[in-house]
Amino acid sequence: MDKPTVQDIFHHFYPAYLDQYSPSPVQAKVAHNIMNCKTGAYGANVCVCEDCGFIQIHYNSCRNRCCPMCQAVPKEMWMDARRDFFMMPYTMQPLPQSAN
Ligand SMILES: [Zn+2]
Repeated sequence: MDKPTVQDIFHHFYPAYLDQYSPSPVQAKVAHNIMNCKTGAYGANVCVCEDCGFIQIHYNSCRNRCCPMCQAVPKEMWMDARRDFFMMPYTMQPLPQSAN
């Protein structure tokens, strides 16, 4: 069995969570987005190979910034664009005497 995804966990536990708790509208929207991400709820793109007729269906993502399934690639792209900044060496410098 594959490792469970966050979406799997929401599908499994969120209904029982709702029996005991009342999430805020923002939290409920995030949960709804995560549970429906890449399921076809947000539409799909269908590609057909003109040579062999192979059909590939790509389900759209929810694009919620809290969703780990559809924000992983943008997050990595953001990190890659700033990797030089994050990897800069950091050294401690003593304060000048006038600061004491
Ligand atoms: Zn998503």
